[in-house]
Amino acid sequence: MAIKLLIDFSGKGHYYIVAYPFFVHLSFCSAQKWAVLPKKHSGAELDKPEPSVFVSLNFMQINLSQVRFGLYARKSSVQEDRQALSIDSQLDEGIKGAKIEGLNFTKKYTDSASAHTINNRANFNKLIGDLQSGTINGIWVWKADRLARNPIEGGQIIHLLQTRVIKVIKTPFAQYLPDDNMIGLFIEFGMANQYSLDLSKNVKRGNAKKIQMGGSCGQAPQGYLNNREKKTVEPDPERFDPVRKMWDLYLTGGYSLNEICKIASDKWGFRTRRKRNIGGVKMRPSSLHCIFTNPFYYGKVRCKEHENMGIHQPMISKREFLAVQKLLIPSGKGYSTPYCFPFTNLVKCGECGAAITAEKKVKYACPKCRKQCSAKNPLPCPRCKKTIPEEVIQSGNWYTYYRCTKKKRRCSQKYITERKLEDQFIQVLDELEIDPRFEEISIGWLKILHKDNAAHNEHLLNKFQQNYKKQYRRLESLLDLRLDEELDAETFKAKEKTIIGERDYWKEQLNSLEKNGDERFQEIEKEFTFLEGISREFEKGTINHKKHVLLKIGSNLLLKDRKLALEVKPYLKMILRLKNTGVPPLEPPSTFNTRRQISGLKQKHPEWWAQLDKIYHYFMENAPFMIE
Ligand SMILES: [Zn+2]
Ligand SMILES: [Zn+2]
Repeated sequence: MAIKLLIDFSGKGHYYIVAYPFFVHLSFCSAQKWAVLPKKHSGAELDKPEPSVFVSLNFMQINLSQVRFGLYARKSSVQEDRQALSIDSQLDEGIKGAKIEGLNFTKKYTDSASAHTINNRANFNKLIGDLQSGTINGIWVWKADRLARNPIEGGQIIHLLQTRVIKVIKTPFAQYLPDDNMIGLFIEFGMANQYSLDLSKNVKRGNAKKIQMGGSCGQAPQGYLNNREKKTVEPDPERFDPVRKMWDLYLTGGYSLNEICKIASDKWGFRTRRKRNIGGVKMRPSSLHCIFTNPFYYGKVRCKEHENMGIHQPMISKREFLAVQKLLIPSGKGYSTPYCFPFTNLVKCGECGAAITAEKKVKYACPKCRKQCSAKNPLPCPRCKKTIPEEVIQSGNWYTYYRCTKKKRRCSQKYITERKLEDQFIQVLDELEIDPRFEEISIGWLKILHKDNAAHNEHLLNKFQQNYKKQYRRLESLLDLRLDEELDAETFKAKEKTIIGERDYWKEQLNSLEKNGDERFQEIEKEFTFLEGISREFEKGTINHKKHVLLKIGSNLLLKDRKLALEVKPYLKMILRLKNTGVPPLEPPSTFNTRRQISGLKQKHPEWWAQLDKIYHYFMENAPFMIE
């Protein structure tokens, strides 16, 4: 069904509207052009106009050459403007039209923004201002929807036209005059507005549904790729592992964002994903900061007000994510705080609580009078006043010392050399260090404990998985009901909330069980390996390694009267206690018969077994780096 409307301007031209339920065509043409138009437009109705309504109007003559036109062009990157010509092409069309019809353009205005929201376009506002001040009094625009897609600004234009502030609005196919019937323009702006509303609603609805089904919207972050066909997010085979390694490095606490970027770019050759003209570059600390604060990496998807656990493969666990957030907060000084000294930022003064700072000094003897000097910078000799040559200072005895910054209040603490501070810390490490035999036997028995537990967990895992999948199916059928409008919005919302709650509950259960699996067990092995030969490794380690060890071993490091005090982390205390119980002269069996073997161990070495069991459960229930 089509409504056809022909408006005849007293023989001077025809205003012809064909309206279908989904489509409105609006055109203005002079009597001479009438014959040409059908070729340009595929609408066959234009050939033999049979109007349903016929309106005759007075055609107001206007001298177009006297109008000061403002040429307006707009195109935004949003979906609603996809069909529009580019800004340059719109301007070209205007200039072409101006030549043919002899129009004068006074000013040019362009906006690369959406016209859906009010007051979103700087140059549109300038256009209105110039109209009101009289600088221009006409508008040339490629299509009316370039001017407005919202009723406020559309109404503003119509009002300016009706009050004759605007003498004429011209488009390639239409012209709107103050005495015209405004229906045409109202329809144009109304259509533009509705189109934009529909689109944004559809996009919103689409996103909400996607999020609800565990999908994600927008561009996949580094380490992931958008699968356009399946509309899912998948690990980027090239970057997933390197990005995961960046998390690992940061979790050690020994690397700044800057250092990680350097390692990634220079050692691994990491480059960001290339997309059109952007990407394909080295990782920058600010981008890395974005990665480290994006919950997407542990599985959460967010889009405006919607959020959910996604179905994509998480890169890290939520615990790891939270641990990184903790590490990120104190470095409010930017991304590049370099770690020049292992103990700074970690040790505090035991007397006044202020931070400990480090400085380098050099000891040397004056080449002339042999006076012993100590300084940071070369100075003339205090005794013979001879200037000390640079080589003497360079080859002098350099050392680092730590001292209280005394920034909080008066403090009587004296400095301590790095050597002495390190020696004290190494004493702590010596105590914690384990030998290979202890490691082998402990891990051997822990494996048996783990085997026993894993068998026990298997059937739970199956049950949780089934429950989790069931919630998915429930959610899907609920959505179908809603889409078929068999459910009202309120009931749907309430039911959806319950199901999502249940689903997330099972997901959490599943995650905690899965984490109790082999991955978590490897953590125990890692910790034991870490403690083997730890003193030696610390001594010859780099600053980053030292910092890493310090962070892992203890917290609350205090320096008072040149004595270092620290709290050893709970899991290390447990291993230490196990070590102090003495290694049982019992080789771990190589075949598994866990129940019997465990009860055997329990009987013969109850203390050792109890301590081992504690360690096992501690690791299974906590991530070590979460321990304060
Ligand atoms: Zn102090
Ligand atoms: Zn001297």
